[in-house]
Amino acid sequence: MQAYRHVLVALDFSESATFVCEHGKDLADRYGADLTLVHVVESLPVVDSTYGPVMPFEIDLTDQMLDAARSRMDQAGQAFGVPEDRRLVELGSPKTEIVRIAQERAIDLIVVGSHGRHGVKLLLGSTATSVIHHARCDVLAVRLKDR
Ligand code: AMP
Repeated sequence: MQAYRHVLVALDFSESATFVCEHGKDLADRYGADLTLVHVVESLPVVDSTYGPVMPFEIDLTDQMLDAARSRMDQAGQAFGVPEDRRLVELGSPKTEIVRIAQERAIDLIVVGSHGRHGVKLLLGSTATSVIHHARCDVLAVRLKDR
């Protein structure tokens, strides 16, 4: 079996994220692989059209979210010994960005949680499901439902 050389852990910064990251770090250490962390900020401008043209109300918190995410990512990177150039914060759809980063960086194993902030109603969360379907490399979904 071919050893993994570059492991990507997708962090949603939920309360399970550290557990998922520990799995990725452990695997990377066992294989002597590089470890990259990625968090994807979903840009969701808050729009309230209630007052129509009288008082258009639109707030875009993207910059603040990116700043907060970079700060959380730095903490995670330091905790897991990941160098700065492998601490990624992206903007967009998590499922799309995780797969894109994996292809761009020649990742051969993606580690995600089976569930994240989007709840535990399904057998597998929507991000995990989509990444498994679209990634061209192996994907490990760390089971979180019963935790
Ligand atoms: P979900 O399928 O959305 O419940 O989330 C399952 C897993 O997908 C999480 O445990 C993370 O590993 C990953 N994930 C979800 N959202 C994000 C995000 N915004 N950035 C990075 N990874 C994410």
